[in-house]
Amino acid sequence: MKVDYSIVAPIYNEIENIPELYRRVKEVMSATGGTWELLLVDDGSTDGSTEAIRALAMQDEHVRPIIFARNFGHQIAITAGWDYARGDAVIIIDADLQDPPEVIPELIAKWKEGYQVVYAVRTEREGETWFKKVTAAAFYRLIYRITDVKIPVDSGDFRLMDRRVVNVLKTMRERHRFPRGMSAWVGFKQIGVPYKRAARFAGVTKYPFKKMLKLALNAITGFSYFPLQLATYFGFISAGIAALAIPLVIIMRLMGSHFFEGQATTLIAVLFLGGVQLISLGVLGEYVGRIYDEAKGRPLYVLSEEPEE
Ligand code: UDP
Ligand code: MG
Repeated sequence: MKVDYSIVAPIYNEIENIPELYRRVKEVMSATGGTWELLLVDDGSTDGSTEAIRALAMQDEHVRPIIFARNFGHQIAITAGWDYARGDAVIIIDADLQDPPEVIPELIAKWKEGYQVVYAVRTEREGETWFKKVTAAAFYRLIYRITDVKIPVDSGDFRLMDRRVVNVLKTMRERHRFPRGMSAWVGFKQIGVPYKRAARFAGVTKYPFKKMLKLALNAITGFSYFPLQLATYFGFISAGIAALAIPLVIIMRLMGSHFFEGQATTLIAVLFLGGVQLISLGVLGEYVGRIYDEAKGRPLYVLSEEPEE
């Protein structure tokens, strides 16, 4: 069965948010006049969200549960949404209502104007720590500078994508994912819609610092070789300094100067280069590990039950 709109919400322990999310999405989507479905992707919740999703699906056939066998992460949950969505337009939204469903009609309006990717841009953020705001702002700008794809600054995963775009994304099976980067990469006609990011309706963030760091690494390694090239730059700089220093020291010795003598200088040089080499090895390891993960070719996620058609 085909529908006009698929709303995809990844859910990891959001029991308190599910009824409100459903209520507001239903209200907004009923007003659009189109047919719609709400895909609730349960990313291995342990707080009863799974049962709540199943109960909702029994009660309203707009709701389609996709239940993971364990926690695979937000990005993978979005991927499952792309895979199972049947809509002509697919809308990704956070389950904690930080992305207000009331913005969806604006996204749809732009889509009807002919844009295939309509991303929501956060002009303001409510109820988030200064640490999160500062790291997020720095992150978006760093990514923008060092990646080859121009990923719009301050846009999250909250966006509408046309069926054609989703069909392309479905063929991109990379393991370490950065969905908003992938959706910028495909091209097509894209446009941003500003919105105010609300505070969480209930519960706490499921994105601790470690997960944020992992996502940042996915973004960088997935869309840039810059960290690998850093080793080359450092190599040229050190070699350049050495090439200048060697004749300088020889001349100074011949002139009887004892400058640059002693263990400290040697130690500093060795430690500095050793450090740079180890960091470069680590960077290399990061990329090699990702190649290894891809080579294994495991499925991106495992469902605990086959979803109904
Ligand atoms: N989420 C998920 N799997 C995870 C972590 C988060 O599906 O491992 C979902 C979460 O339920 C929410 C969305 O991803 O719907 C965004 O997470 P969160 O609100 O915790 O992130 P933040 O807004 O704080 O960056
Ligand atoms: Mg949130």
